[in-house]
Amino acid sequence: MAEFSNTFHYNGETVEPGEVRTLRHGISETYLGDPVEIPVTIINGRHPGPSVFLTAAIHGDELNGVKVVQEVASRYSPTELHGTLVCVHVVNIPGYLAQQRYLPIYDLDLNRSFPGSERSNTAERMANALFTTFIKQCDFGLDFHTSTRNRTTMFHVRADMNNPNVARLARSFGANVILGGGGDGGSLRGAATSAGTPTITIEMGQAHRFQQRLIKRALDGVESVLAEYELLPDRAIHWPGWIKVIDDSSDKRWLRADVGGLVEMHHGRRELVYEGEVIATISDHFRDEVHEVTAPFTGLLVGLLQNPVAAPGHPLCHLVSVDDRTLEVIESEQDRIQRRNAVLEGF
Ligand SMILES: [Zn+2]
Repeated sequence: MAEFSNTFHYNGETVEPGEVRTLRHGISETYLGDPVEIPVTIINGRHPGPSVFLTAAIHGDELNGVKVVQEVASRYSPTELHGTLVCVHVVNIPGYLAQQRYLPIYDLDLNRSFPGSERSNTAERMANALFTTFIKQCDFGLDFHTSTRNRTTMFHVRADMNNPNVARLARSFGANVILGGGGDGGSLRGAATSAGTPTITIEMGQAHRFQQRLIKRALDGVESVLAEYELLPDRAIHWPGWIKVIDDSSDKRWLRADVGGLVEMHHGRRELVYEGEVIATISDHFRDEVHEVTAPFTGLLVGLLQNPVAAPGHPLCHLVSVDDRTLEVIESEQDRIQRRNAVLEGF
């Protein structure tokens, strides 16, 4: 393992080993000239080790991660940590206050603005202030998201699995499903990974909610990562039963409505659907016509519409194929869980 510095540096300040620092770091100003400050907790372990950042609410209405970061920031003490946790509780403060995804100013997407620049638009300046102060000097990072509003997403990780350092991080988080790919241009995970800080995105559930079961799984994931990289050398990794990496060769597509009407989803709480199975029906208000939307192949429902009305072209669900071997593993795991009188949780 590389040599790690004991002292964490940011913005000309230092956090000594054994110290917990809570702070508000200015990344912009309001129209009134008041500071826009992000809340950050830095826990510098008594023992040397890697520095890890956790970020939430880059999209301002995606709240599950905010709860995850709050829990992590209060859960671990510097006496047990071998390394440093940099917990950025909320990134997109203006969007968070307005309860919306984008920066209210010109609807800019902060997660398309990294690594940002000092002399560019508002979003890129904010991104740059975060990136240079806290992200670049970390050894790896976890960025928490949810689905956009009116949809939900299965608990899963997005990661560039062609990068071995990112792949190790993604697998150690222990979500059942990893969607491979480099991510959109300007995303925090893409920019951080390019700058030498391997980073994954965790997608979980709905916007505007705290979903306790998903938050618990994410906390298990964080602990697994901290165990894998020996920030918590005595903790065990939470093995999820199965992990499926969905790479570019997998068939994956958004199934869209071909007619307008009222949408009924039939997936229940399961993520797995079989070829030919009815996923949703769309009916007109008189119930004269009912259109069935069937699965074109056997796969996992990664994303799902929650708003029950649709026009032609509206996305209904994001389906990704699974091969026979993975299917067997998932089915046997589902059987095992059903025998324990439980269901696979994902939504
Ligand atoms: Zn997001």
